[in-house]
This record gives sequence, structure tokens and C-alpha cells, in this order.
Amino acid sequence: MKDRSKSFETICVHGNYEAASGQPHVLPIAQSTTFRYYNAKDVAELFDLESANFMYTRLGNPTVNKLEEKMAMLEGGTAAIAASSGQAATLMAVLNICGAGDHIVAAANIYGGTHNLLGVSLAKLGIEVDFVDQDLPEEELAAFIKPSTKAVFGETLGNPALSILDFDKFSRLAKRAGVPLIVDNTLATPALCKPFEHGADIVIHSLTKYADGHASCVGGTVIESGKFDWAAGGKFPGMIEPDESYHGIKFYEKFGDIAFSMKMRGQLLRDLGCTMAPMNAYLIHQGLQTLHLRMERHSANALSLAEFLHTHEMVEWVVYPGLPHDKYYSLAQKYMPKGASGVIAFGVKGGRKAGEEFLEKLRLTSVVVHVGDVRTSVLHPASTTHRQLSDEEQVKAGIKPELIRISVGIENIDDIKEDFDQALGEVKKCL
Ligand SMILES: *Cc1c(COP(=O)(O)O)cnc(C)c1O
Repeated sequence: MKDRSKSFETICVHGNYEAASGQPHVLPIAQSTTFRYYNAKDVAELFDLESANFMYTRLGNPTVNKLEEKMAMLEGGTAAIAASSGQAATLMAVLNICGAGDHIVAAANIYGGTHNLLGVSLAKLGIEVDFVDQDLPEEELAAFIKPSTKAVFGETLGNPALSILDFDKFSRLAKRAGVPLIVDNTLATPALCKPFEHGADIVIHSLTKYADGHASCVGGTVIESGKFDWAAGGKFPGMIEPDESYHGIKFYEKFGDIAFSMKMRGQLLRDLGCTMAPMNAYLIHQGLQTLHLRMERHSANALSLAEFLHTHEMVEWVVYPGLPHDKYYSLAQKYMPKGASGVIAFGVKGGRKAGEEFLEKLRLTSVVVHVGDVRTSVLHPASTTHRQLSDEEQVKAGIKPELIRISVGIENIDDIKEDFDQALGEVKKCL
């Protein structure tokens, strides 16, 4: 992978795609399931993982590969695997190192979909999870670690609780357990935080959100730092022992700092097939070209709107880690100094009913189940994304019944404020 030394903004724009003379200036879409060879030996090498060429799009595709390389460059990792969705990325990251009888320590303040994946679907496969309060002192968190623990999991910026992960504490916790720290960096994006610089070993993303940025397609990725020692401690036999489905390949021995990704591609993309489509890779690759600019504007608009709401008479409370009175302000300053991203949570005065009324009065702002779009949008998590959780689990995940989550877009900030102001004015009339 070349050009690694270029600055973040330049990688966003140019990434790793460089057209040869007379070739397309924009990344081409390799809309082909398969790739032609002229002899059996070349194909056999592909099946033995001896060649980096393409064979079949379920396992790899030139367009998808360009997106993978770009994400690895942006995060500062050694390799990335693209997945059909963020959920698929989390599933593969976990299944790559966990099986029945294994255990994960996960922050409770994570995305509702991840909470279900870990707590419901993976529980059915015999993977056990403890959801923990991420703000507990290190010693109390350490009490959740067991001999069967295989990973520690958290989100840089929790969706939608807007908690910031204390990376120093969580990476020490993972080190003590001898397991990787897996971090979902979806809402922060590498433009605002690079988890590998703070001790994470594996980073996952829903690329559906800020990476795409235009709400046009679903995708995910898993990126590895290349620094985790899979041999120490004997906890990860799948990385060390021969894989008979590949003539006895030992992934860590053979692939070193990209072993986690090679194993995931070779075993999980092969067997689960949650592959990203080339068209989606093209769209997300395109979206990433403006990631640095968008995250700057999303953050600036969000801070300005949060300040406006904070002083508004119809607003009960505002949570945004960029506000100085916020619980996570100091962690945000430490780990996301360039901006606290574009997501705000707030409660309208008048509780749940007023919250619902407010959503109906918005004009510019859309009510959608999404974050990270260029368009400002809102959502009521208690009745939508987190409705599968019990009331108790909702509170544990940081969701109040009146919470409204805003994904602040990149429109003119005065237009956004005006829309919120008029909708809050309408709610006031109804009280
Ligand atoms: C949306 C989201 C996911 C799931 O991603 P999909 O692409 O919708 O499958 C995971 N984590 C976070 C933080 C998210 O916001």
C-alpha cells in the first residue's frame, strides 16, 4: 500500500487509487462475479491463498479492495475487510476469534443493533457477553474478565448515548485479559478519532453512516492494527493452529500483521458470504473523498445547534460531548479534539408526547432511522431503534423516553436553527 505518509485529507481525496495513462480517473466498478485465468495452476494458487489476485467476488473484488485499502490507510491499520453492512462487520470481527463457550466484555452504551447481535443472536450460538457500565473504575471492570474472555468491545462515540470511550482504561483492561480491544468507530470516523493510536486492536465501522455520508448504501468494514500478538497466551488457537480447509495453513505464522484479515476473508467471507457489492464500494469510496470536510462541518454545526438548544426555553436537557458542561467533555477533548461529530441528543420540555409533537412540526429536518447523512435528521430511539430493549435495558443503554437524537447535517446552520426554533415554538403552543 503506497502513499501511507500522505496527510489524512489527501488520502481522503486520492486514497490508493491512481489511474494509469489513459485509464479512468475515477475508481471503476468491477461489476463482475468472477475473474478469468488461463491455466489451472493460477487458480489453484488462489484457492491456496498463495496469490493476492481475484477469483470470485464473494471473496474479493478490485473495487471493493480499493475501498478496503483506503479504510486501512485512513485508520492507520495494516488491512481491512469490507462487509455487506456494519452488522456483518461486527459479526465477522467477533466470529473470527470467538466460538461457543467464549465470552466478551462489551460496553452497555453501544448501538442497539450491536446490543441485539451480541446479546441475542450470538448468545444463541453459545457466545456469552457481559454488558458493562463503561464509566466504572478499572478494577470493577476487570472483575468481568474470565478465562474464556476473548474480546473487549466498545464504541468511540456511543450511538445514541453519546458516551466517549475511555481508551486508556479500556485498552489496559484488554491488555490485562490478553485479548484485543475491538472498537466501533462509526460515529467518530478516522477524521475525528483514530482508535489504533489509543490502544485499539481491531476497528469496525458501519460505512453506511458518515463514510458513505449521503444515505445511499449500506456497508461495513473490519480493520486490524497489525500489532496484536495472537500467539501470546494461547487464547486464539484459530490464529495459530493449522486450518485443514486450507491444507493446514497457520494464519498468524503465514500472514503476520494481516493474519486477522486473511483469516476473516478466507474463512468467514467464504462461509458466511456477507460480502460488499462492488457498486456499494464505489459509492462509499466516493463518499470518503469528502469525509474530512464533512466531519469538520458536521461537528461545527452540531456544536452551534447544541449551544442554541442548551439555552432554549422549550428544551429540558442537551447531551453533546462538545459542550463544556457535558459529562464526556474532557474525554471528548482528549480523544476527539478536532470535533465531537454531528450527533446530539436532547429532551423537549413536556416529555414523550411533546417529543412526538416536535417531530411532526419539523419542516427542513427529516424524521429518518439514520445518522451521518448530509441532511439534518432526527429520530426517537425509545420508540424505534431501541424498542426491542426492555425499559431497564434502555436506561442502561443511556436512552431516556423523551430522548430525541439529531444527526446534524451540513446545511446552513441558521436554516437548521430556524427549523428547530419554529418546531419548538409549535410545541409550546400545544402545552
Ligand atoms: C448503524 C450502526 C451499526 C450497524 O451498521 P449497519 O450498516 O446499519 O449494519 C453499527 N454501529 C453503529 C455505531 C451504528 O451507528
